[in-house]
Amino acid sequence: MTIDLRSDTVTHPTPAMREAMFAAPLGDDVFGDDPTVNALETKAAQLFGMEAALFCPSGTMTNQLAIRTHTRPGDEVICDQLSHIYLYEGGGIMANSGVSVSLLPGERGKLTPALVRDAINNPADPHRPLTRLVSLENTMNKGGGCYYTLPEIAAIRQVCDDNKLPLHLDGARLFNALVETGESTEAHGQLFDSISICLSKGLGCPVGSLLLGKRDFITQARRFRKMMGGGWRQAGFLAAAGIYALDHHVNRLKLDHSRARKIGAMLEALPEVQEIYPIDTNIVIFRLPESILATDYVQQLAEKGIRGVTFGKHLVRFVTHHDFTDEHLAELETRLKSSIGLHN
Ligand SMILES: *Cc1c(COP(=O)(O)O)cnc(C)c1O
Repeated sequence: MTIDLRSDTVTHPTPAMREAMFAAPLGDDVFGDDPTVNALETKAAQLFGMEAALFCPSGTMTNQLAIRTHTRPGDEVICDQLSHIYLYEGGGIMANSGVSVSLLPGERGKLTPALVRDAINNPADPHRPLTRLVSLENTMNKGGGCYYTLPEIAAIRQVCDDNKLPLHLDGARLFNALVETGESTEAHGQLFDSISICLSKGLGCPVGSLLLGKRDFITQARRFRKMMGGGWRQAGFLAAAGIYALDHHVNRLKLDHSRARKIGAMLEALPEVQEIYPIDTNIVIFRLPESILATDYVQQLAEKGIRGVTFGKHLVRFVTHHDFTDEHLAELETRLKSSIGLHN
């Protein structure tokens, strides 16, 4: 048995999800007549109280389309220095949209109203790029899965309103935050101009993300999606998985969170683990001593059938997910215990 904690993207569709996929009525989404894609987009938009949605292959694409649609070449996007849109999207902000980035030093990847306010360039100064977009990430991957609360977001929204700036959310794991806070999707929909959510992470779909926003914005994003080669045809097979996941896989995310906390307790017992980031959702990040490289450690874990990823020179990340069960958890404990002393 391999214990795969590399990411919550590694899940396979359940038998019930596969059945929903096989049964999906199909059309051609580029012609706009795939009924299952349309149903998913309508369902997601309604869930957040937003006007429209666009189903895409990946969260990178939904984020990049949002940036492309909100900005023009030469503009600037404000985000935290740990943001996925900057660190993990292949330089897409610059390549796809021709815009620069103002990288802010938030707290575990979370911005504050003051940080955002101070980073907005004076639009009357022609030396400076025009600040055109603020982007938040919730939950914050590189910050260890921490999340914003609604009042924190509302305060940043106020700064955006004061400066007539749109606010985008990279909500790849937004549902992980919502099951912890109990906050509503509608309340989040009201605070953002655009939201990206991933179906292929904790929700367990094989593929897919959604971009939500105003009708005109989504129409424009759909044009850019086509331009980037993201127009897809009988995508209803995949949309059916998304509908199934929104109906059945949201509330169970709490299980992933409690299992992540149990992993944290196991790691505390390991002498080589120097620090564990607070475990707020399904992400566990831990620090090794200077003498152990994360790449070596991850390799040694792999030899024990435990898969994680390096998240810095001495940082390792585990992510719990739908296919990581209590049985895996028990087996993980056994294997971790047997790894003590491995590195000395
Ligand atoms: C996974 C992820 C994305 C999107 O990733 P894709 O692999 O392109 O779907 C975006 N933002 C965050 C924070 C993520 O963790």
